[in-house]
Amino acid sequence: MATRRRKTPAPGRAPRVGFVSLGCPKALVDSESILTQLRAEGYDIAPSYEGSDLVVVNTCGFIDAAVEESLEAIGEALAANGRVIVTGCLGAKGDVVRNAHPKVLAVTGPQATPEVMAAVHAHLPRPHDPFADLVPPQGIRLTPRHYAYLKISEGCNHRCSFCIIPSMRGDLASRPVGEVLQEAETLVRAGVKELLVISQDTSAYGVDVKYRTGFWGGRPVRTRMTELCEALGGLGAWVRLHYVYPYPHVDEVIALMAAGRILPYLDVPFQHASPRMLKLMKRPAASEKNLDRIRAWRAACPELTVRSTFIVGFPGETEGEFEELLSFLREARLDRVGCFAYSPVEGARANALPGAVPEAVKQERLARFMAVQAEVSRDRLAAKVGREMDVLVDHVEAGVAIARSSADAPEIDGVVRVAGAKGFSAGQFARVRVTAAGDHDLEAVPA
Ligand code: SF4
Repeated sequence: MATRRRKTPAPGRAPRVGFVSLGCPKALVDSESILTQLRAEGYDIAPSYEGSDLVVVNTCGFIDAAVEESLEAIGEALAANGRVIVTGCLGAKGDVVRNAHPKVLAVTGPQATPEVMAAVHAHLPRPHDPFADLVPPQGIRLTPRHYAYLKISEGCNHRCSFCIIPSMRGDLASRPVGEVLQEAETLVRAGVKELLVISQDTSAYGVDVKYRTGFWGGRPVRTRMTELCEALGGLGAWVRLHYVYPYPHVDEVIALMAAGRILPYLDVPFQHASPRMLKLMKRPAASEKNLDRIRAWRAACPELTVRSTFIVGFPGETEGEFEELLSFLREARLDRVGCFAYSPVEGARANALPGAVPEAVKQERLARFMAVQAEVSRDRLAAKVGREMDVLVDHVEAGVAIARSSADAPEIDGVVRVAGAKGFSAGQFARVRVTAAGDHDLEAVPA
């Protein structure tokens, strides 16, 4: 069979990874974990060797027959595709794989999602968009076993003028609700304690399939954000929602948060507060009265943490419009905020807009924006001192647990540092009492 070597995906399409999963249910869980991470990072999973940019083979090495089968599968993938990463139990058995197949790109043992992802990144760079990525592009911090990203859809029906995602990934394509719930259930069974729901537009989930009814465990479930959240909330893990646009039906998930079914955390990318800017950005839900909405959400769920992202220095932004944004920030008192100075993305329509803001002005606005937000954040965190809260421990360093509360998404928000955390371990829930607060993080002790 001819060897095919694809090095980079054609421009405009997501990189594709082929996947072969062999072995027992434990290996299957590893495969789920790798596949979830691949999807969360924007890779497509290809159904054939020929249609893949590279292939991951998850092997079994338990008995001789399994070793044979695994080596055969690697050989087949090499012959058909040429670019192969090997993981799983056979990878842990010394040089067996490399002796038989010296051309494989990388070999890891079982339960090695971070290592497999590092090898994928090295040979097939991940797609990246600074306005859409929740996982920071720098350094690729790999997801530990106790939390996982759950991607519920691909693409987007909006056409924000600064974004090229729809032209790269197409219109919204919701994953079948049964498949999403199955993946979530598998992850929770494998030890995941927190599911981070991601997409380009989480509140639009199911619009493309007219909220079709799917099935999970024999039960009908509609392909819709509220119904999905309700079902996820029953799995026994924390469920955190990212990229929710402020459409009216978001009120339904606030009710689920108030009832303790899912975390009282909402990541809503507002991007600006000036109606003219929002119109130029062509943002969805631009006309919604966002301040009123935030007040109503907080009234319905006082524990709610609202996170958002903004762009300053968008083409044509006047000093007055920027001030409007600062006033919004002071009034909305958002808990967590990220901000970008506008930078043109190749191919985005916003680049053609008049009134480019000079770089120095952009940077000055960014600094003023962050100063206002630091003050808001400091005040909101200070109000938590003395309170008790549940946290999920990410890791423990020299007797101090680095943990997160419902208000802290991994990688993008703050942390809760718990002193005297002897006996604490990663992936464990704990009850703590807050003793001090900074600009972004909290200090605590076991309650
Ligand atoms: S909502 Fe806008 S920014 Fe987000 S993916 Fe769609 S087009 Fe891009």
